[in-house]
Amino acid sequence: MSAGHNLVGVSPAAASQWATLQAALEDQPSTPCRAHRDPDLWWSWASSEEASALCWSCPVLAECGAFAAADGVRWGTWAGRWRGAEDAA
Ligand code: SF4
Repeated sequence: MSAGHNLVGVSPAAASQWATLQAALEDQPSTPCRAHRDPDLWWSWASSEEASALCWSCPVLAECGAFAAADGVRWGTWAGRWRGAEDAA
């Protein structure tokens, strides 16, 4: 998940991974989460299985996952994995 993420307060390591992700996106502007008719799929636990499956064809999967891990994101589907509480969809 790369669109619409709020970077306020991220660590230097996460900021570095974010820059890497953005650089990768310059070469691959179309990702499943950007191209899908319903990008909200990536923001709900209820649809996370569908979103996760779509992530596996993403050209920036590795960079997305590296940022999510560095930042410790706690919401949304990132790099084929839901990150957040499962009961708050
Ligand atoms: S791996 Fe998934 S969440 Fe990350 S940019 Fe690609 S489609 Fe979006």
